[in-house]
Amino acid sequence: MKMMMMISNNNNALLLIKLLTLHSLLVLAASQDFDFFYFVQQWPGSYCDTKQSCCYPSTGKPASDFGIHGLWPNRNDGSYPSNCDSTNPFDVSKISDLTSHMQSEWPTLSCPSNNGLAFWGHEWDKHGTCSESVLNQHDYFATTLSLKNQIDLLQALKSAGVQPNGQKYTLSSIKSAIQGASGFTPWIECNNDTSGNSQLYQIYLCVDSSASRFIQCPVFPKGSCGSSIEFPKF
Ligand code: AMP
Ligand code: AMP
Repeated sequence: MKMMMMISNNNNALLLIKLLTLHSLLVLAASQDFDFFYFVQQWPGSYCDTKQSCCYPSTGKPASDFGIHGLWPNRNDGSYPSNCDSTNPFDVSKISDLTSHMQSEWPTLSCPSNNGLAFWGHEWDKHGTCSESVLNQHDYFATTLSLKNQIDLLQALKSAGVQPNGQKYTLSSIKSAIQGASGFTPWIECNNDTSGNSQLYQIYLCVDSSASRFIQCPVFPKGSCGSSIEFPKF
């Protein structure tokens, strides 16, 4: 009898050790695996003015302003984690207080015309789940919206004479307009319009790993814009 109790105690101890190991592995898996965020905004005119074209959201044509693309955890070596937690999928009921603000600041442009849930869901599932250690689902979207409020990219460009009027501008004039207004060096991503002209597509700024302040980018994305960049109307 005593022998059997000892065996069972040993088994319990073994089970406990196994559970603790599993727990620490899970904690490790959920812990932060990135160094900073890219905060990426997009010029809708350049999303639409391509061979692929675009569709306006069911709520109507977005404002003539930069829209949010996403807040992307990234590592200092240039790599990034993605799709980190399939057990926590996008749930629009968690951001019901934010959706009207999201419709104006984070508009979907993909076809067919839709209400934005697919775009926001893609951003949460691919990128947001990789910063769960810092931002829960509600705060991921709320924080991203508040970052957009802090630096007005379109105003910064317009004040420097860089206007969305279909004219061409140099990369350095675009960069210094944003650098001057924000204090931070942006990365500029270009795409091509239907005639193959390079145009201002997305602007990247960097945010620290707690998503609380803008920082100088530890590393820039790759790609090139050419020296003459169109800023299409929208
Ligand atoms: P990501 O996977 O976060 O790098 O984002 C790229 C995906 O987002 C691609 O599938 C794009 O087509 C999509 N995308 C980018 N901008 C928009 C937008 N404004 N509306 C809908 N989808 C978008
Ligand atoms: P390059 O002409 O590629 O040698 O780049 C000259 C400088 O401009 C370097 O400091 C690059 O990091 C910067 N640069 C090049 N392309 C971009 C871009 N698309 N956005 C922001 N900076 C860039």
